[in-house]
This record gives sequence, C-alpha cells and structure tokens, in this order.
Amino acid sequence: MWQCPKCGREFEKVNQSHYCTDQPKTIDEYIAAQPEEIRPFLNQVRDTLRAVLPDAEEIISWRMPTYRKKRIIIHFAGFKNNIGIYPGDDAIAHFADKLTEYKTRKGTLQLPYDKPLPLDLIAEIAKWCYETRHR
Ligand SMILES: [Zn+2]
Repeated sequence: MWQCPKCGREFEKVNQSHYCTDQPKTIDEYIAAQPEEIRPFLNQVRDTLRAVLPDAEEIISWRMPTYRKKRIIIHFAGFKNNIGIYPGDDAIAHFADKLTEYKTRKGTLQLPYDKPLPLDLIAEIAKWCYETRHR
C-alpha cells in the first residue's frame, strides 16, 4: 500500500495518479465523498456507533470518522473491499475469539461488503473501548 503524502488516500500502486481532494471535515462529508455503493454500509456502522456511544463526539481524526470522549474511542473507514474498524490492538486481542471469521491487522478489523455487517459485534467492541478507556 502507498499513501499519498498530500491527501492521505491509500493506493495499491506507488505514486498512483489521482486527484488529491480536500479532506472531509465531518462524518457527513466523509460518507458523502465515498462511492455510492459503500455509503449504506458506512451509514450502518455510523448509526451503530452513534447509538452505543451517545455522548461521544463525532469528528474526523487521522482522516477517518472517529468517536471521541476526551480520548479517542474508535475509528472507522471505507475502502474498496471492506470497512475498517479501528478499535486498537487491545480490543482486537480481547475479542479475538469472536473475530475468527474476519481479517484483523494492527488493531484493525476488516469487514468485507459481501457478508452482512456484524453490527452487534461492532457495538459490543465500541462499548468495550469506551468503558475500558474511561474508567
Ligand atoms: Zn493525493
């Protein structure tokens, strides 16, 4: 993977030509800037996180939709073939038994679009992140 140093987008090819676009400043802008076919998935994740983290702020951090309450709780992001959920290494380790059918990598859970999104599991992970980081 190569990440454009100007706009932060990731590509498989180094120096992939593309238009650097302005970075979205809100989660609404982020989702609106994604390809139409993945927006419904992103909205499902967002609705799930909002419901389980009602007092968290919605921001863009590290160029990703992010939930924060004093500290960052969780990020997510849309990619071509999956949604990335970023709960951190400790959460991935804690939930390892429940994540066996998904790819995980460096504190990230990768959810492909060809399976139903495990929204209950996303909610459970987000709640765990919130509780363990704000005790
Ligand atoms: Zn760029």
